[in-house]
Amino acid sequence: MSEINRAVKGTNDVLPEESYKWQYVERKMLETARLFGFKEIRVPVFEHTEVFQRSVGDTTDVVQKEMYTFDDKGGRSITLRPELTAGVIRSVIENGLYNQSLPQKVCYIGGCYRYEKPQAGRLREFHQFGVECIGAAAPSADAEVISLANSVLTSIGLENLSLEINSIGCPVCRANYHKALTDYFESKKDNLCETCRDRLTRNPMRILDCKSPVCADIAKDAPVMIDFLCEDCHNHFEAVKTQLNEMEIEFKVNPKIVRGLDYYTRTVFEFISGDIGAQSTVCGGGRYDGLMEQMGAPATASLGFAMGIERLLLVLSNQNKEIGKDTPCDIYIAPMGEKAIVKAARICSTLRKAGLSAQTDICSRGLKAQMRYANKIGARTSVVLGDDELQSGIVRLKNMADGTESQIAIDNLIEALK
Ligand code: ATP
Ligand code: MG
Repeated sequence: MSEINRAVKGTNDVLPEESYKWQYVERKMLETARLFGFKEIRVPVFEHTEVFQRSVGDTTDVVQKEMYTFDDKGGRSITLRPELTAGVIRSVIENGLYNQSLPQKVCYIGGCYRYEKPQAGRLREFHQFGVECIGAAAPSADAEVISLANSVLTSIGLENLSLEINSIGCPVCRANYHKALTDYFESKKDNLCETCRDRLTRNPMRILDCKSPVCADIAKDAPVMIDFLCEDCHNHFEAVKTQLNEMEIEFKVNPKIVRGLDYYTRTVFEFISGDIGAQSTVCGGGRYDGLMEQMGAPATASLGFAMGIERLLLVLSNQNKEIGKDTPCDIYIAPMGEKAIVKAARICSTLRKAGLSAQTDICSRGLKAQMRYANKIGARTSVVLGDDELQSGIVRLKNMADGTESQIAIDNLIEALK
């Protein structure tokens, strides 16, 4: 196949027969977010490259290896967003939302772009649903945001997910931890992979996240952050756990979760599925108290999460979950002849205004071909509109499932179909 007939590697089409699943999960996401007071924000697909360098962090895999970056015709360095938090925070700052009543609670759905090695659950264009809660420092904010993620996943019908949480402290206590961690890895440096040897000086915590089995083995006995938390961070983490227990949200503390982006502080969490293989993290999030300041605004404690929609749909599909099918066509009107075609179009508009899905012939086909089409699209009912029907104003409404017919006035179709 030539390139004009082939999607770019790592990208997917959502075909018409599948899109109802996307609509279903997106509806659940926005509905649940609304219950928690989160309003949708929409930000551009691309930003100045610096927005991501600053927020996601220069030392991360995302910024170092995965970004789609190019110079536009005006010579500006532009990057397709690899995630949405950076752009959302940029917008929150630019539009002064942090000056309004806090917390500001926003949510989003959108495409993300990362130059990664495509595989199951890992794409170059993928989609995230996420939330950001700006200006909330208390542990109850962490519990609320985790509870929202949990409610979204439950409302969609996902099962068998586990919630893992950790605290990665604040810049103060993390400095001590970094030292202990660097000392530990320094003694085993020669066995680390090349990337991790580099991480040792730039960002030693990322070694804990390395997918290489050798590094993972070395990291097994590494010191963990929760043993180094300062009193404030320790108390914060304890309060989050207490509140999650109170809300009856099950979780496990996993001291190895560090998250892939630089901006996190204190609480980090992941929802993991046992049903989709290696790329098992469906949702990741946490607190990023330093980010607003790092981006040029006054210090504003904030937190959020993002979930990968493709991965989530993969879990649904692997769990054989039935989700509400697309609303079918309520009626197919098969006109015979010029006059009937015009009348059929008119009946369709009346029915559509009443909220019914109505279709008719737009290919000037014969009756047989039209009925085949009506069957194919799964029409619930059909009527034939010929000269007799036009004259009498009465049609025979056919139930496509069992073939039964009933006489009905055209003017009463809305009633009959509702
Ligand atoms: P991973 O460890 O899988 O690379 P990450 O830490 O890079 O994940 P985040 O940046 O936290 O992921 O993004 C949040 C969520 O977005 C992930 O938990 C995952 O569900 C989804 N996601 C991230 N990268 C991809 C991708 N390349 N393709 C599909 N989904 C992705
Ligand atoms: Mg990644």
